[in-house]
Amino acid sequence: MIYDQASYRDDSDELYEPLLVEKASKEVAVEDGPLPDDLTRDTLEMPELSEPELARHYTRLSQMNYGVENGPFPLGSCTMKYNPKYIDQVAGLDDAAVHPDRSEGSVQGVLDVMATVQDYLASIGGMDEVTLQPPAGAAGEFTGIAIARAYHRANDDERSEVIIPDSAHGTNFATAAMAGFDVVELPSGEDGRVHLEALEEAVCDDTAALMLTNPNTLGLFERDIEQIADVVHDAGGLVYYDGANLNALLGQARPGDMGFDIMHFNLHKTFAVPHGGGGPGAGPVGVVEDLAEFLPDPHARETDDGDYELYEPAQSIGKVHGYHGNWLNSLRGFAYIARLGGDGLADTSEKAVLNANYLATQVDLEIPYGPFHHEFVASAGDLDAADFAKRMLDYGVHPPTTKWPELVPEALMTEPTETESIETLDALATAFDNVLAEDEATLASAPNRTTAGHIDQASAARNPRLSWHALEDGEE
Ligand SMILES: *Cc1c(COP(=O)(O)O)cnc(C)c1O
Repeated sequence: MIYDQASYRDDSDELYEPLLVEKASKEVAVEDGPLPDDLTRDTLEMPELSEPELARHYTRLSQMNYGVENGPFPLGSCTMKYNPKYIDQVAGLDDAAVHPDRSEGSVQGVLDVMATVQDYLASIGGMDEVTLQPPAGAAGEFTGIAIARAYHRANDDERSEVIIPDSAHGTNFATAAMAGFDVVELPSGEDGRVHLEALEEAVCDDTAALMLTNPNTLGLFERDIEQIADVVHDAGGLVYYDGANLNALLGQARPGDMGFDIMHFNLHKTFAVPHGGGGPGAGPVGVVEDLAEFLPDPHARETDDGDYELYEPAQSIGKVHGYHGNWLNSLRGFAYIARLGGDGLADTSEKAVLNANYLATQVDLEIPYGPFHHEFVASAGDLDAADFAKRMLDYGVHPPTTKWPELVPEALMTEPTETESIETLDALATAFDNVLAEDEATLASAPNRTTAGHIDQASAARNPRLSWHALEDGEE
């Protein structure tokens, strides 16, 4: 096979980067171990490469992709924050790499950091206690809704329904269903917000919780949030805050002050933990005082002697993840918050809102709903939003989130990161406007300047070939 180093393609023009074992390998003998013979091999094919060859392999793989270090990444709702290098330096410290089974006495510094991040997040969110255990936002939602169920049960008040606005993220619906609740979908009002009359009609004795994000997925602030919380509380329900949009509120307003009882934070969205690639995230959950006894086990706290310990909250829902959650991500969040401080965090949200509003004034696209905060949802009009997005890659920028929320036809949900410069925002606007001026035929074959071409995402999702062996065997 001829492998073209310059184009990442093989002789049949397929995208290709050899596996390490394909580049150079060596058969090594496997020593006898405690496993039964039928589960072990005598020899193993191991890659054998020099350091530069290894470095080139990973660099090439990274060049086949697009990330926050290639250019802007305005993926709405997901907040693709720039990941400052110092937080990885902190997470790479020798002292941070502790085994989770070590005794409490020997990891006091780790527990101190955990208790401190819990406090930081609690004061940012206006919550009383925070658990660091859930590994992602969706896992945080599940933890929060499990806490809501435990709370109602402890009051002998079994409730069966969770109310969710139609504009909500798919994970909200999945969470409520997985936790065993019936989902009551709340239609948005004409202005894209929750309407009090619709909410009043939806609440009842069975309402366990309302799940809401604010600003919502259209980037709109729910102005009636205090009345919304009152309506749910009056019916005996709890109010859950989906923290994915916290980037808009940091240092300006707090979910706890708006009446929310439970919330999650996405450290990989708002607090600089690297995002995507299937890597570990972190979805800490905050609660008000009445719910603190239901938090997952273990929970870190400072003792009266000034030591740190782990304990099991009185009516804990149990574990939602191994050990203490993704500790190194808690540490990254700590480093980010400690470095920026309260003023720095407030500056972050101001710039997030400014960047979104500036970009919106520079694009020719229609933006049906506003005024928005850190993100806006434009419409691709007569063009297909997914094709529109793929074509943007040809202009060297990453596209926004597409086709969601469905309130906007052919939605382009755009969130330019707060760290982007005005020059980058202008380049983004040019990409949007260039694509808007093109026809569907041009878009349908794009992108043309990227490593991979126009991928059929529906087939890729329905018929994934997940292993290299499947490709090798010619499996469909
Ligand atoms: C990302 C997101 C979630 C889910 O968070 P993950 O960390 O991806 O699991 C939930 N709600 C909204 C609005 C989001 O943008």
